[in-house]
Amino acid sequence: MPIRIAIDGPAGSGKGTVSRIIAKKLGIPYIETGALYRAVAYYLRQRGLIEGRELRASDREIERVLGEVSITQKYADGEARTYLNGEDVTDLIRSAEIGQLASVVSARRVVRDYLLELQRRLAENGGVIEGRDIGTVVLPDAEVKIFLTADLEERARRKASQLGIPYAEALKELRERDERDTNREVAPLRKAPDAILIDSTNMSVEEVVERIMDIARRRLEEKNRR
Ligand code: C5P
Repeated sequence: MPIRIAIDGPAGSGKGTVSRIIAKKLGIPYIETGALYRAVAYYLRQRGLIEGRELRASDREIERVLGEVSITQKYADGEARTYLNGEDVTDLIRSAEIGQLASVVSARRVVRDYLLELQRRLAENGGVIEGRDIGTVVLPDAEVKIFLTADLEERARRKASQLGIPYAEALKELRERDERDTNREVAPLRKAPDAILIDSTNMSVEEVVERIMDIARRRLEEKNRR
């Protein structure tokens, strides 16, 4: 089984940035599970099931609508590209607004169940898999499990510069998402007991990458010795 590196943590913790670099260094795919939730939110809104910030539909209706859509992801040129019914929606779903809606729809069990098998299939050949519940629910037996975090203010600074939005807006947006992602009943954002905690508040991207690469190298050595 090729190595699977699960990286979970709140929005703005740097998961995406370091995951891309590590995947490239190790020559394994990068799988961005947040983009799958974003694609679901994008589609449910398009189909009129989301009003404002509320998902107004029964589980059955959501299931029926998701039954007509095909969502997938491919790793190409160092990037995870997400497809909705064959259309590349990667750039359409990056906004802060779709991030919020993703956080709303991801709290519904029917949506999480719908994406579970897809995530496991995408990780079949190994990779760096980034999300909120990879180490706890999706791949509890991943070879490497990291919980990456950073102070709220630092994460807001990063999101503001990444999305080109004001700091205050990024802060508000992250607070709302943290609250929802941590307190939902199904698969809340939690550190798996056996995940290694990395607080990136005062670390550079290179330092975080090096720390995770070290952990992965040690794991690979252990595996090869067995
Ligand atoms: O990682 P990203 O910010 O793109 O994720 C968008 C939203 O999708 C998160 O705020 C979270 O609510 C949800 N998500 C999730 N489980 C994952 C990945 C993302 O619930 N594995």
